[in-house]
Amino acid sequence: MYRLILLGPPGAGKGTLASALSVKFNAPHISTGSIFRRNIKEGTPLGMRAKEFTDRGELVPDEIVIDIVTARLKEEDTAEGFLLDGFPRTVHQAEELDRFLESLGRPIDKVIDLVADEELLMQRMIGRRVCKSCGKIYHVITMPTKREGICDVCGGETYQRADDTEETVRHRFEVYQSQTAPLIEYYRNAGKLLPVDGSGTPEDTLKATLSALGV
Ligand code: ADP
Ligand code: ZN
Repeated sequence: MYRLILLGPPGAGKGTLASALSVKFNAPHISTGSIFRRNIKEGTPLGMRAKEFTDRGELVPDEIVIDIVTARLKEEDTAEGFLLDGFPRTVHQAEELDRFLESLGRPIDKVIDLVADEELLMQRMIGRRVCKSCGKIYHVITMPTKREGICDVCGGETYQRADDTEETVRHRFEVYQSQTAPLIEYYRNAGKLLPVDGSGTPEDTLKATLSALGV
């Protein structure tokens, strides 16, 4: 098992890859975006605070996200390994994560950096649909549900994320470039970066990731 971070621009396939790796390694998949979406849906105080940022494609303030992730990483099921999807997203978050994991004696092993062209990512996100119940990800053209609007796996309703509209997606790329892309250098310097091609199918990306990990 590994302690892994999945890095990459919006739409690169972090969530899809993390789900697959989570099954393969039997390790918890920790997605900050999913934690926010669940809290927003349930109307919790955290959800209400996060919504004003996520809807606009802005980052939720560091201190909120760091608290959530460190609390989650204190849970027993993460002791052997985990997949961090969507965190860290700023250099400050990365530094705090490193400090926290070093204090536990469980440093990050590797950082998978999913690489893909921006136009492809735009098309992926604008067509993306997500199941309300189980979170499975579809695409209206490349991976449609069998029945329109209904999840193949659980029969739940699929929907378009509020932040998957064209304008918000463009803004999320700008935020990624200015705030998250510096992490590539940060983890390269730490000797942990593994660049992986994210432009193919989910199966291609999984294969490329496992071979980069030497599994
Ligand atoms: P994607 O990777 O497709 O952009 P996510 O589901 O990971 O989407 O995140 C959705 C939104 O949740 C982000 O645009 C941001 O507002 C918020 N968010 C998720 N993770 C973080 C984080 N680590 N720091 C700050 N905001 C975050
Ligand atoms: Zn479903």
